[in-house]
Amino acid sequence: MLKFFGRGSAFADEHNSAFFISGQDLILIDCSMDAFHKIKKMDLSGIHNIYILVTHTHGDHISGIAMLIDYEYFIKQIPVTVIAPSDRVAEDLRYYLHNIEGCGDSWYAVITADRIKAEWFECAVPTQHTDELDGKCFGYVLKVDGRRVVYTGDTRAMEPYEQYITGGSYLYMEISAHRSKVHLYAPDMIDYINKTTAKGVRVFLMHIDDEERIHEMTKDTDAEFAPLNSGSEQVLGEIFDISDKLYKEMCSNKENDHATLFRYLTELGKTIVGSDRASFWKWDKNRKELWTTSATGVDKIVIPDNTGLVGKALKLGQVVVTNDPYNDPDFNSAVDKKTGYVTKSILVLPVADIYGKFIGAFQLINKLGNGGRFDPVSDPRKLSLPALICGIALESETFLEDSHHDKLTKLKNRMGFYSDFARRFNKYLTAEAEGPLSMFICDIDKFKSVNDTYGHNAGDEVLAFTADLIRQACTDKDTAYRWGGEEFIMIMADTTLEEAAAKAEALRKTVESSEFPADGRKIHCTLSFGCTTFDKNKTIEENVSVADGHLYTAKETGRNRVIWQ
Ligand code: GH3
Ligand code: MG
Ligand code: MG
Repeated sequence: MLKFFGRGSAFADEHNSAFFISGQDLILIDCSMDAFHKIKKMDLSGIHNIYILVTHTHGDHISGIAMLIDYEYFIKQIPVTVIAPSDRVAEDLRYYLHNIEGCGDSWYAVITADRIKAEWFECAVPTQHTDELDGKCFGYVLKVDGRRVVYTGDTRAMEPYEQYITGGSYLYMEISAHRSKVHLYAPDMIDYINKTTAKGVRVFLMHIDDEERIHEMTKDTDAEFAPLNSGSEQVLGEIFDISDKLYKEMCSNKENDHATLFRYLTELGKTIVGSDRASFWKWDKNRKELWTTSATGVDKIVIPDNTGLVGKALKLGQVVVTNDPYNDPDFNSAVDKKTGYVTKSILVLPVADIYGKFIGAFQLINKLGNGGRFDPVSDPRKLSLPALICGIALESETFLEDSHHDKLTKLKNRMGFYSDFARRFNKYLTAEAEGPLSMFICDIDKFKSVNDTYGHNAGDEVLAFTADLIRQACTDKDTAYRWGGEEFIMIMADTTLEEAAAKAEALRKTVESSEFPADGRKIHCTLSFGCTTFDKNKTIEENVSVADGHLYTAKETGRNRVIWQ
């Protein structure tokens, strides 16, 4: 896509000039004086050639060329080639640069467009603009990021471009809010724009003499204003695109988890700062681990929380920048070794929760531009917005996770049970479901007497120990929950009633033969079980009720047993 230094007409503050980068070439389309001022501020590391495609020789299109030639010759030493669309324009430009602007012949080259052998160039297109420059006004057909781009320059006709405007191409067309003989008057172009966008062409308006009126005149079309490169506007546009995508993704996110959110937020950080890779690391303080799933090219990565540059940034509570990682003792090259990736620069920004406690870190790898080096001051500032949102998202994810778990037993609780049903198990309850879904509910026998005999803390220990035994009995298909008090549930996917009952029986035996810790003593406990397989015609609660009925029978008929029919 082209970016514009300015998209205004001659009388505007910013004149129409666009650019794109192809490999080591910076290609400008026209260069007014205000464009020159902005080029000076650009990061041109990695650029080996500057080409200026001239559409015509009006001052608002060429007034910055000589200044750019001088600047690049004396200061930056990047060779400038001026491309004229025809021999006549080349002659005029040579005269102008040599005789009027006084540029030395060796400081630049003027060539005609037919001599360009670059993959980004297709052709110059002669058009009509003012009578005084008759035969000397042109547009261009280019290839930018693999896409055909038609750039009209100043024109009063679209016919010359018609044959090049094919589906999928981008058209940058001039437009005017004033009726004149030299420009395209907006109200006259509405049908044309509609026909063109209907062909699958994106239409960008440029050379705008009155933004407000053009906006009003074209608001019922799909035409867009040419994207300005004026720093913040460009970045805001990119933030909007990503937020929009994020919002849409969230609305259709059936998994209802935060993974997508983190993926887009890291994408946002990557775009704003300009880096090759980005990942967001979560700090699991209980396990003393840092882990990420959003690094590119690898699955979940887990590292001890006191290692690597992320660990360092979290320990110090400050930004860490390394522009020479292989000589940094804190850099862990294991991922590079595994994937063949070469890390050249790293920026890590710790992320805090609303209480200011660090809970994770943003990591960017390999800065684009600026000689491949992260700036320790400006880059973290750019990253602060996505980092803030990541912090809030991580906090809410942690909060959600906590609310689904029981603190004492660390099993999922009733809220976790219903959340799992909504996300994972509901499919077993639909008519077309395949495998059976079974469950058991179990309850510690005479648990009240444990509390009464050994105290409440001993009761807690017994509960936690029971939960451990149940957890250990779970396979990949099973999930255990603390249903309440001393009652637990296990949900078993793709498991028949008989298999569920066998599992319950095995657990019953394990419990029966285990020694439970109880306030420094060893005691014995038993569990009673009620099993069922889910009936699709019943609600979740009705199904649990069936198992509960069986549990009641187990209690009634002597406890320490499994009832399933
Ligand atoms: P039964 O064999 O019929 O199930 O007898 P029981 O004593 O196990 O059942 P009852 O429902 O009479 O007692 C359950 C006890 O569990 C009562 C309650 O105080 C205790 N309890 C529930 N939650 C906790 C907890 O988190 N910690 C402790 N220590 N006790 C708990
Ligand atoms: Mg009990
Ligand atoms: Mg009970």
